[in-house]
Amino acid sequence: MNALFASVRYLKGVGPRREKLLQRLGIRDVYDLLWHIPRSYIDRTETVKIRNLPVGEVASITGVIETVRTSVSSRRITVIKAIVRDDSGVIPVVWFNQDYLKNVLKPGLQIFVRGKVNPGYGQAEMWAYDYDLIDKDKTAAEPGIDPVYPSTEGISQKVWRQIIRNALEEYAGIYPEIAPPGTKEKLGLLPARQAFWGIHFPARWEQQELSRRTLAFEELLLLQLAIRREHQSLRDPQVKGVKNIERDDLVSRVVRGLKFSLTGAQKRVIAEIFRDMEDERPMNRLIQGDVGSGKTIVAALAMAKAVSSGYQAALMAPTEILALQHYKTLKQVYPPDVRVEVLTGSITAKRRDEILTATAEGWNHILVGTHALIQENVVFKKLGLAVIDEQHRFGVSQRALLGQKGFRPDVLVMSATPIPRTLALTIYGDLDISTIDELPPGRLPVKTLALRESGRDKAYRFLLKQVKQGRQGYVVCPLIEESEKQDLTDATALYQRLQAGIFRDHTVGLLHGRMKPAEKDRVIEDFRRGKIDVLVSTTVVEVGVDIPNATVMIVESAERFGLSQLHQLRGRVGRGAEQAYCILLGNPRTDVGLERLKVMERTNDGFEIANEDLRLRGPGDIWGLKQHGLSELKLTNLWKDSDLLHITRDIAAQSVSLPDENRAIQQLLNKKYPPTENIAAN
Ligand code: ADP
Ligand code: MG
Repeated sequence: MNALFASVRYLKGVGPRREKLLQRLGIRDVYDLLWHIPRSYIDRTETVKIRNLPVGEVASITGVIETVRTSVSSRRITVIKAIVRDDSGVIPVVWFNQDYLKNVLKPGLQIFVRGKVNPGYGQAEMWAYDYDLIDKDKTAAEPGIDPVYPSTEGISQKVWRQIIRNALEEYAGIYPEIAPPGTKEKLGLLPARQAFWGIHFPARWEQQELSRRTLAFEELLLLQLAIRREHQSLRDPQVKGVKNIERDDLVSRVVRGLKFSLTGAQKRVIAEIFRDMEDERPMNRLIQGDVGSGKTIVAALAMAKAVSSGYQAALMAPTEILALQHYKTLKQVYPPDVRVEVLTGSITAKRRDEILTATAEGWNHILVGTHALIQENVVFKKLGLAVIDEQHRFGVSQRALLGQKGFRPDVLVMSATPIPRTLALTIYGDLDISTIDELPPGRLPVKTLALRESGRDKAYRFLLKQVKQGRQGYVVCPLIEESEKQDLTDATALYQRLQAGIFRDHTVGLLHGRMKPAEKDRVIEDFRRGKIDVLVSTTVVEVGVDIPNATVMIVESAERFGLSQLHQLRGRVGRGAEQAYCILLGNPRTDVGLERLKVMERTNDGFEIANEDLRLRGPGDIWGLKQHGLSELKLTNLWKDSDLLHITRDIAAQSVSLPDENRAIQQLLNKKYPPTENIAAN
């Protein structure tokens, strides 16, 4: 076993008690410790004399704590005020709501503080952002850059620095280089060993940045190799899969029965899919299409082709609501001789057994469901096509598992989270990509308005007006229960308020994640049938729900959502011929927050929105990308490092020594991306 993966317990300075504390942060072995990246740094190279502190700006000082006082403000905020002195003067330094500091900040201690200098009343004071107690034994008052680690109670920054230093001294040297020899030098990157030192204990900022970029390269390369490993079995050019050759006119019967004609983009994408399906090589295709572009019918036709060719098809959706909706759509578009079943949590055990038997015996043609479809007891007689809707909600391994339900079936994945092409290629490995870049005719772009919360009454009066004209609307709230800390609007309370108040002459419905599947289905069905006028919901409606008569989407606390998520939510309206509206209520506290809502007002283009999201928040935060290992990236800034994304992808693709044959790569992969990892949806 590689010593990198030895338990932290054996590291100098750790022991059983600290081992437990470290485990709380998910740190088990030395590898984890090396990758425990500082959350910030304290730069003591640029301290200012207290007398010279610039009012209104952020600056750093070092001095001695004279007194410490704790008080509680009228708004129940704990205020800790320490008087700090250096040889030029004194200043009060203030911390808010960090009670535990009472026991940390003591008179006589030397302290470094970085913070904002506020004019205060009469005397300037500093609001602390970061602080560091200076160790008297060491000459730490000497200027330098110190790491500040994400921590848990019981481990001080001083201890962190010590154990990480120990880990670096003993183990940084054995961290394997997985890039082909010479690659990193050519890119101007550092050996891994130096990069770990440079990220934890940089002497200069340039060194920190180069180390960050080097480690970004390391983690991207590993991610690319992981993706490659996932796709390998599916993409072996030698592998022969299912050849779907239609035996009857089912597909054209379905097309003829549609209430609309297919858009040019739908036809093109269907042709691409059909070509893949007729080929012996297994299909692995991603359909990207903005919300409302009509992906479902494309999937329905692909499944009809599989059935017509004598195979079965499976359709996996991320939520029960969506699975049921698909089931109903399919029942509608297929003639009665196509047998479709849906597996949900709300059917009886007896019914479930019947469906499973019918599917195993090949009597049932198409099985729709949630990730329940990948469970062991679901067996197909002849699975020819596996379709995964809203792919971004599933993990790569879930796709692989569904694929394993047949003998190398064709695989079609659909996603409405449009992402920049480089990212798509990374996330989806070597999937072929088709794009539905056209909306059905007659769709009016949704009009979007971001309002401050003071505009709430206006928003609901507008919704009322629409309801009186026979339209319906959604109101989406971030959480289902009132949280004391954050005053999020609670769905249940809002539902009651609206029903008793402005909508007392209409019907308001409530939908949230804690309801039983059958209840959810009933509510959605009532909404679909128009028995409910206004549906108050948590984000359970965010993907896929298709109710064309709904024309208004109000989002409460909109600043709490990601842009792509807001785009998905907005996609619930504007699905019919009527003009639709989206009202985003919220009081963003930051400029970025404000800018994000402005982006929503400005554009309806999902690609542009995804790009903005990436620019404003970074990929880890982009909703929907969590499941793809991107959120595992600790040091990559996909904006700054987009070149590394290409480069590592090429290296992974060309890497002659496949992961299996390179022990070091295999060990790192197994550690970071365990092969059996099965990420649940939702
Ligand atoms: P998404 O791509 O978001 O999954 P859906 O497949 O749910 O979109 O389709 C959105 C709506 O558009 C549905 O009501 C569907 O019946 C309708 N639709 C799909 N294709 C067309 C078309 N070519 N013309 C008119 N309406 C269409
Ligand atoms: Mg859909």
